[in-house]
Amino acid sequence: MMNEPRFSRRPDIGDRVSVSFEFFPPKNDDMEARLWEAVKRLEPLAPEFVSVTYGAGGSTRERTARTVARILADSSLTPTAHLTCVDASRAEIDKVIAEFAVMGVRRFVALRGDPAEGVGSHYTPHRDGYANASELVTALKGAGDFDISVAAYPEKHPESPDFATDIEMLKRKVDNGATRAITQFFFDNDLFERYVERVRRAGIYIPIVPGILPVHNFTQVANFSARCGAHVPAWLAERFEGLQGDPQTHALIASAVAAEQVLDLVERGVSDFHFYTMNRADLVFAICHMIGIRAPADKAAPAAA
Ligand code: FAD
Repeated sequence: MMNEPRFSRRPDIGDRVSVSFEFFPPKNDDMEARLWEAVKRLEPLAPEFVSVTYGAGGSTRERTARTVARILADSSLTPTAHLTCVDASRAEIDKVIAEFAVMGVRRFVALRGDPAEGVGSHYTPHRDGYANASELVTALKGAGDFDISVAAYPEKHPESPDFATDIEMLKRKVDNGATRAITQFFFDNDLFERYVERVRRAGIYIPIVPGILPVHNFTQVANFSARCGAHVPAWLAERFEGLQGDPQTHALIASAVAAEQVLDLVERGVSDFHFYTMNRADLVFAICHMIGIRAPADKAAPAAA
């Protein structure tokens, strides 16, 4: 007889777990249609919020605003707008914050952002701009009664010389008013656990929400990870080895890998998860199902054919 799976003894998991989903603003009509298919499939799962990214150099400012506006108008979801300091003066950013507030946005993810040339290139703050995320948090705090999240890095930010400096930056963001940190994606849960221990030792007690990236395309994820300082363990590379031309098996493995990661984090006491959806619902929906996050029967959206 088969043994009971390790996690099946926790039927109440779904009651204790809370999820949020991240989307990026679409560039064209096809991408818009795909985004909305994903939004509508995930909506019945009642996430705490959904967030919309802000492209490098503020390049998606209008598209981010349009996407957030449509979420407010056409869904029951609570949108969270990402904001960065890149290539914008304080006055320009303050204006964007005010526009979001008029729209009805109460939640932000405050970020420094990466240079328009891409992750890893040298960052130069705008002459009249906010120098980093902690200054942006202060600006948001002064502009309204907002819920402010910030970024955190279980493997430290690539520009940080050491963990102490990195965590000091996180502490400044919290001291200035951030109440939640969402992490860069990672694949090794031990690294996350050690990071949270360091953060707590530094006297930071806000929720540190793991950012989970389902691996839709291993080659792309491996390249991006190298640039943003996220370690890709050898076991993960082995799981996807030889699957470049086999999308179906790749998706099955990706869903198993992410589910394993999330279930293990639940075992370690984590209750909030932020999913980098890449504007696709399939893997995230399956993982949520496994952890007991289900749509009420009368609200379940049909899966795309
Ligand atoms: P900060 O917290 O300001 O700084 C990060 C690091 O920079 C510090 O840890 C430190 O090493 C160094 N640093 C900065 N200032 C100082 C200083 N004064 N002294 C010493 N060290 C300093 N990017 C986008 O463009 N758009 C998005 O929508 C977006 N969303 C994101 C969402 C999440 C959850 C995460 C984790 C990242 C996201 N990013 C996004 C990427 C992010 O903009 C980059 O990682 C960027 O390089 C750092 O942004 P930050 O807010 O963490 O910066």
